[in-house]
Amino acid sequence: MTKKPVIFLQVKLQKNTQHPAIKMKEKKESIIIEDYTELIDTHSHIYEQESFAGEEAEIVSRLTHAKVSHVVLPNIDQKSLPEVLAFEAIAPQRFHPLIGLHPENVNENYKEEVEKLMSELYHHHYYGIGEVGIDLYWDQTFKEEQIIVFEQQIEAAISKKLPIIIHTRNALNETLSSLAKFDKKKIYGIFHSFTGTKAEAEEIKKYGDFKFGINGIVTFKKSTDLQAAIAEMSAEEIVLETDSPYLTPVPFRGKRNESAYLPYIAQKIAEIKGMKMREIAEKTTQNAKELFYI
Ligand SMILES: [Zn+2]
Repeated sequence: MTKKPVIFLQVKLQKNTQHPAIKMKEKKESIIIEDYTELIDTHSHIYEQESFAGEEAEIVSRLTHAKVSHVVLPNIDQKSLPEVLAFEAIAPQRFHPLIGLHPENVNENYKEEVEKLMSELYHHHYYGIGEVGIDLYWDQTFKEEQIIVFEQQIEAAISKKLPIIIHTRNALNETLSSLAKFDKKKIYGIFHSFTGTKAEAEEIKKYGDFKFGINGIVTFKKSTDLQAAIAEMSAEEIVLETDSPYLTPVPFRGKRNESAYLPYIAQKIAEIKGMKMREIAEKTTQNAKELFYI
């Protein structure tokens, strides 16, 4: 955590490619693209029209340049679904939709919402159930409903043998209580945006075969606890994610996040664990491929 390593730009730039690394040139700090072959973003809302409309071609070109081979698209409610599916259609080999009702989008219409979303499982191939879970950070009005909806979606994941992508905020106990009602041997997936301790990760794994989604938070200066947890965790337990357009990694913090910034997260994890970028890329890519069958 002391001195920042100076990594020189060694990017063979394709013509007209606006890779984020270009901007880093003046600071003499960047990612060596030759150091890895492939990365997977397991959680990105890059389909959101509000943030990315009209930029599809540039997004795909930046992903190719950053060697992000696959991007998993978590759904949040009925309204977001057409955007998720439209984005998948741009490049179905690369963009993979999930289906689910996000805990913050649970309201009085929850029964109809979750029923309609889960019935979608019979009409299209989804790579997992997500993002689902319990969030008591902003609003606890629909706490009971959030729990009901979460458990219905765990059931759907089990019956379809799909991974479940869990969002939990200020609600780890409630989340684990819900998971405890099911057969842990049939539950697998990701605890997305993990910011807990090594002990919490161990506890979570008692409830199912879980990986932990690490995003730009790991690059923040004040994330010393998370960095300590990652130092202790095995690379086998980790998958990469951006949660784009949110949680932008350093050095782009404050700007809109996108999946092409994934190398900055992988690089930070490699630095914390004293591993090569290539090793982190290979392990996390393998973890994501096994989970989503991609
Ligand atoms: Zn998300």
